[in-house]
Amino acid sequence: MAPPTFALNAPLADLGGTWLALRCCKGLTYVPVNLLAGAAHPEARLRDVLGRMRCKACHDRPASIALIENPAATGNGGPRQGWVLLLT
Ligand SMILES: [Zn+2]
Repeated sequence: MAPPTFALNAPLADLGGTWLALRCCKGLTYVPVNLLAGAAHPEARLRDVLGRMRCKACHDRPASIALIENPAATGNGGPRQGWVLLLT
């Protein structure tokens, strides 16, 4: 799967299976887009939920948010890392 070209305008439903990586005080936290899509309006787009993302630990806005294909990748003979798209 190639990274969605216009990820910010992509409906969450089209990004199923990908993850958001939030970088904040606890390092990286991964949130499945499927989870966001389930809690949001069916036609919500990625840009609609990005502004509401908060760190679970300090409740501040994450320093950066990336859309990634496979958070389980290790890069050491494990699963392929896939693409990473820095959003903020
Ligand atoms: Zn934090």
